[in-house]
Amino acid sequence: MVHDAGNIALFCDLAGTLVAMDETRQLPIDARGNVKITLLPNVRETLMPIRDHLIFVVTNQAGVKRGRFSLAQVEAAISELDRQLDGILTGWMVCPHDDADRCECRKPKGGMIAELAAIHGVDLAGSTMVGDQEIDARAAAAGGVGRFVHAAEFFGWK
Ligand SMILES: [Zn+2]
Repeated sequence: MVHDAGNIALFCDLAGTLVAMDETRQLPIDARGNVKITLLPNVRETLMPIRDHLIFVVTNQAGVKRGRFSLAQVEAAISELDRQLDGILTGWMVCPHDDADRCECRKPKGGMIAELAAIHGVDLAGSTMVGDQEIDARAAAAGGVGRFVHAAEFFGWK
């Protein structure tokens, strides 16, 4: 019998949670100037068994605002992540702003989570957010996600 997870979702931070970051805690850029995606340990192995869940990426990318890379490059990088994960991602949202923009999407606000939840009819109370920073935990709480798990615990890095 196929397990039906209904509208339970897993919300994932990107850099430092699903993929490697550089020494400045941002997405790395490769020699050709493209945003580079390198899966972190056990990400694929952990996500594949729960691929019947809705799986989203919610990521702050102030590097767009600061001119480090373009939103299109970030979108292309997440598409590459999705390709590496055999199309497991249900969707994603990118905040291209920084604190000065006072937007509703930048974590620790819950705007990206709320928007994805509305679009996909997510059962937030039954859902989980995984991330590597305090702002991820705060965004989960702000967005009404029932549970937050640190990436190191979720992916068994300890
Ligand atoms: Zn924003």
